[in-house]
Amino acid sequence: MNKIKVLSVFGTRPEAIKMCPLVKLLEKDDRFESIVCVTAQHREMLDAVLEIFDVNPQYDLNIMAHGQTIIDVANKVLTGVDKVIKECRPDIVLVHGDTSTTLNGALAAFYNQVPIGHVEAGLRTGDIYSPFPEEANRKLTGAITTLHFAPTESNKRNLEKENITKNVYITGNTVIDALLSVVDKNYKFQDDILNNIDFTNNKVVLLTAHRRENWGEPMKDIFAAVRRLAEENEEVQIIFPMHRNPLIRELAKSCFEGIEEKIHLIEPLEYVDFANLMSKCYLIMTDSGGIQEEAPALGKPVMVLRTETERPEAVEAGTVKLAGINKEAIFNIANELINDKKAYEKMAHAANPYGEGEASAKILERIFEWIKIK
Ligand code: UDP
Repeated sequence: MNKIKVLSVFGTRPEAIKMCPLVKLLEKDDRFESIVCVTAQHREMLDAVLEIFDVNPQYDLNIMAHGQTIIDVANKVLTGVDKVIKECRPDIVLVHGDTSTTLNGALAAFYNQVPIGHVEAGLRTGDIYSPFPEEANRKLTGAITTLHFAPTESNKRNLEKENITKNVYITGNTVIDALLSVVDKNYKFQDDILNNIDFTNNKVVLLTAHRRENWGEPMKDIFAAVRRLAEENEEVQIIFPMHRNPLIRELAKSCFEGIEEKIHLIEPLEYVDFANLMSKCYLIMTDSGGIQEEAPALGKPVMVLRTETERPEAVEAGTVKLAGINKEAIFNIANELINDKKAYEKMAHAANPYGEGEASAKILERIFEWIKIK
């Protein structure tokens, strides 16, 4: 039997974190030929992840440009991936999640009549405009996908509601495969600011915020709540690895002015640093998707700074709380978790709603079985 040619297409940091463990397994397995095409929808943040996992893409579309719109990204991904598919003729194209790379990479495969495998299929909020444009990206990708790799039972049920019942496999989430390969309890950070923080005698809160829906007023309210938390609790230290978006960076600098000894604005962390910081901190406040999946495995309470989540499993597991974007509510919930040991301990326990690190292996076997019977 000829090797099965798998073209993996991804372009942002979170996609890379979640696709690299799968690419590494494909590379090691004689049944497959692994080809990687990165769009570089993110540039530096993507490259850092590729380096950590030692993944060397055969194709790099290098599409990132200052100030480009979703439409620009969509055009470049569609035409770029089309060319790659025509040149390398894969048996299957793998895309991940819900970015513009995901949807347009899948569309390029569909127009070339190449089967699509959608990794992290079936996440839904039910509101097509939130998160924007991710909810539409994942829904539209699902409509043209051949093999759906759903992390959880509830993701599978979401697909059923859209009459997608064929070739749906529950695999867990590859984010856990990545996480377990990098977290180490004796880890020393690359960045000395982090090595100098006393994680035992302080309550260290890790903050991340970047979602498009939160730009502007919601972000201002989030920052105001965080500032008040730091001002009113002596033992609280905040670490905010700022996203590269200049709008967010400027807002953070002005909202957190004058409190630098308690609120540390730092550059985005490399994944291994970030994963180990999650495992050492006391509490996480975030609007990120991936972090809601990682934190339960580490037993860290997470406050989600959004009005909805497509990850209800983590909320059911008890480690994730939907805190919303209201200033008072965010402060009150965080303040309770800082000061009420019982409330904190209710949330701080390890749970595995996204699997135990075997998702990539399951996906590989499903692809092999499906190609065999095709
Ligand atoms: N992450 C990282 N460095 C950071 C912040 C986050 O490596 O400074 C990782 C994090 O562990 C998670 C992923 O990036 O795996 C989440 O990315 P992001 O929040 O950008 O996107 P989302 O998951 O919301 O799509």
